[in-house]
Amino acid sequence: MKQIECAFEADVLSAVIQSRWPDRVEAELREHAKSCEICADVAAVAGAIECAREEVPALPDSGRVWWKAQMRARREAVEAVGRPITAIQIAAFACTIALMGACIGATSSWFQSALKWAWGEVTSFDPATVVPYATALIASHGLLVACMVAMVFVVPVAVYLAIGKE
Ligand SMILES: [Zn+2]
Repeated sequence: MKQIECAFEADVLSAVIQSRWPDRVEAELREHAKSCEICADVAAVAGAIECAREEVPALPDSGRVWWKAQMRARREAVEAVGRPITAIQIAAFACTIALMGACIGATSSWFQSALKWAWGEVTSFDPATVVPYATALIASHGLLVACMVAMVFVVPVAVYLAIGKE
């Protein structure tokens, strides 16, 4: 006949819940669980539940891991800044300055008129005039748009690649 309950079941359960199982319980209870199917099941199931529950008290540990990762990232960032500047980085920086200078120099008059236009548009905003203007702007300033795209996308990528390389 299969046993359905055991006198030690409650003892095993409370030992697991109090985190005394299996190291800090009476030797005879531990020995009993080895031979008792019910107590072995109780220990296994309660142990699994306790394990899941202990994720929360384990938070200080994961916090420490996070902190260590933060400190390592900071140290690496400091080391990256302290690294000797490479020729590629200088070239990338020179490119950025040249592009910015070219853009501002070539478009200062356009920029001023655009600013005046924008100021006028603020008081009388009309999408019907904005869209054709934007289209005309892109059409007549293709080089400028290309320049700006280069500045916004290409240069940061180039600088990133240069810095990212050892
Ligand atoms: Zn038992």
